[in-house]
Amino acid sequence: MEQIYDLLILGGGPGGYTAALYAARGGLRTLVLDRPYPPGQLESTNWVENYPGFSEGIDGFSLKEKMRQGAERFGAEVLPAQALSLHRAGGRYWVETDQGTVTGRALVYAAGAEPRRLNLPGEETLTGKGVHYCAACDAAFYRGKAVAVVGGGNSAAEDALLLSKVASKVTVIHRRDRLRAEQALQRKLFQQENVDFRWNSTVTALNGGERLTAVTLTDTQTKTESTLRCDGLFVSIGRKPETALVQGLLELDDGGFIPADETTQTSMPGFYAVGDVRSKPLRQIVTAVSDGAVAAHFAQEFLAEPLTNTESLLE
Ligand code: NAP
Repeated sequence: MEQIYDLLILGGGPGGYTAALYAARGGLRTLVLDRPYPPGQLESTNWVENYPGFSEGIDGFSLKEKMRQGAERFGAEVLPAQALSLHRAGGRYWVETDQGTVTGRALVYAAGAEPRRLNLPGEETLTGKGVHYCAACDAAFYRGKAVAVVGGGNSAAEDALLLSKVASKVTVIHRRDRLRAEQALQRKLFQQENVDFRWNSTVTALNGGERLTAVTLTDTQTKTESTLRCDGLFVSIGRKPETALVQGLLELDDGGFIPADETTQTSMPGFYAVGDVRSKPLRQIVTAVSDGAVAAHFAQEFLAEPLTNTESLLE
């Protein structure tokens, strides 16, 4: 007989597994759809030093495994599957996956958001070996070293400020001649003595063998090339939320993220947006975990209410 879950959780990151832990522990029949590939942000993080409870830090893969095991311990089921489409009918959510269709009465959408890449040759193999996408996670590896930050928005400015506290030198590489970041951040950044700027420049090659040693910059106006030696390159050119499955179902904000209030409830009944996919000011493991707990709490409240008449008729 077809299994109808109380709660489907789409995404096996910290938000998804925390929602699963709270939901399963609260007695909900819970299924997590955790795609086997590509790895999420947590799994691809070399070393996590800013998640409380691990005084020496922990590698991202192990932390994710611990979160999964914690949810499974209370009976949450995990299906390693790639979600292909999602819709709501008859008061239920239906997710078509590469392993078959699953259905549930409420849904936590925790699909994450991935950093935009430069799309340069060698970028994938140098990731974690000089190329990084999260200064808050990885700045500490560059104490006393020379680093560069690509981008001109608030994230790039904040990353450069953070890095200026640990690195000996920070070079901000921006494709235009002025930053997009807000004025207050710009003022702080311009005051840092160890921060300089390469304006009208794009990174056109990543150099090095086992590790990054330098980048090639191309001047957008003169097209001349130059080499910038650096131990680390932090790419901070915006994030791309994984919202393909909700296009047409939910309205998204200007950045493509899912608007949801502090209850994580979206504009669809029983549909919760959790973690990096949600419109929010700080995208970190701890804030994703917080979203997951909140979503499970409100999903339980939602599931305790009777279906509306229309939805009952559609069953
Ligand atoms: P963003 O505002 O979209 O800025 C991305 C930056 O990267 C822009 O400067 C852009 O250049 C540059 N860029 C984009 N694609 C590029 C490419 N392929 N090559 C080189 N450069 C590229 O992204 P964000 O800084 O991550 O911020 C995202 C949102 O979060 C924004 O709304 C931001 O205000 C918000 N945020 C707020 C705070 C805060 O309030 N403290 C902190 C962080 C983020 P152009 O300028 O030429 O377009």
